Amino acid sequence: SDSIARLEGAEFAMIASRDCRPDQIRSLAKQITDAMRAPFLIEGRELYCKASVGIAFAPSDASDANQLLRCVDTALHRATALGAGPIQFFSATDDGAAARRHALERDLASALANNQLSLEFQPFLDLGSDRIRGFEALLRWRHPTLGAIQPSEFIPVAEDTGLIHDIGHWAIKSACLAAAQWPCDLRVAVNLSVVQLKNKALLDGILTALSDAGLEPKRLEVEVTESVLISNFEDAIALLQSLSFLSVTVALDDFGTGYSSLTYLRKLPLSRLKVDRSFVQDMLTDPDCAAIVRSLVGLAHELRIEVTAEGVETSEQLDYLRCVRCDEAQGYLIGKPVPIDDVPALLRGGLVRSDALR
Ligand code: C2E
Ligand code: CA
Ligand code: CA
Repeated sequence: SDSIARLEGAEFAMIASRDCRPDQIRSLAKQITDAMRAPFLIEGRELYCKASVGIAFAPSDASDANQLLRCVDTALHRATALGAGPIQFFSATDDGAAARRHALERDLASALANNQLSLEFQPFLDLGSDRIRGFEALLRWRHPTLGAIQPSEFIPVAEDTGLIHDIGHWAIKSACLAAAQWPCDLRVAVNLSVVQLKNKALLDGILTALSDAGLEPKRLEVEVTESVLISNFEDAIALLQSLSFLSVTVALDDFGTGYSSLTYLRKLPLSRLKVDRSFVQDMLTDPDCAAIVRSLVGLAHELRIEVTAEGVETSEQLDYLRCVRCDEAQGYLIGKPVPIDDVPALLRGGLVRSDALR
């Protein structure tokens, strides 16, 4: 009495009209996921795949077919993208989240044209000289009705919709123009997501941004995360190599949060390693964490890679970082991200908190 259909790609839909209690539906879903877990023998090779199931009920969740499919899709998204487990039921809270996401997708497309995007700049403090060595450019989106949207929320939307290419290019261009106004020993760092690195036009975009702004390539740094290598994208590595050949420097962001394989330190043309905030947070209470930070600095230095500690919030953390010869610090203690107009004041020393300096 059940119907099953292929919707698209690897997506199938099933309508169960009998056994409608949630526990019965769950056990039906489990039969499917269990059956899919067994290896498939194809041309003598064992292939493994994994199924996820999103479940919605009619008429309680939705009263027409399209709406029901949307509910299922939302539940499935929680199972796959959010990794909540292979079998997920639709819930009304999801609906709120899904509606917000749809609104963000729709509005992000016009955010650039409507001047809703801006950059803020967060300083790097050189621990040898106690001077500001540059700034990281961080995207901000002020939505006309929803207010400030966090990058952690809208960057994934930009990546999924492909808008990241235009938005990312705008960020690079604006960051280069900003840095061209600063003293010439300061650099600007821009974040690149792995989606951007898959775009062949990125290299040209960066070169145009540099020449339009009249900025020396060595004053631009790009920050990438380990996902560049986890996705094993040879072209992305080649692109980073071309950039580094042109004197643009490459920093490995959030180091310590992913697989942190030492192979990355060899495969990428790195000038800098940014130790993730979680290590800095715990290093004074957890001796193992302190040992990791200390050893990382030593290892990086042997490889001629500089180290920046992220998320420094207390002067005790800064003292420890100085003690282990970390090169640079970034974090709220040194300065929160500020709008471009506040950069000159920060450079005059007006905004760096005195307890961040010796
Ligand atoms: P990220 O590159 O790791 O950036 C550092 C984040 O930590 C920023 O959050 C910054 O405001 C925050 N932060 C800095 N110091 C401290 C501190 O002392 N304590 C605490 N609690 N937080 C601190 P933000 O601005 O929300 O950015 C989040 C992420 O969004 C960034 O993480 C980056 O991955 C991404 N992102 C931001 N701008 C861009 C962009 O232009 N392009 C791309 N592709 N990604 C971007
Ligand atoms: Ca970053
Ligand atoms: Ca980071």
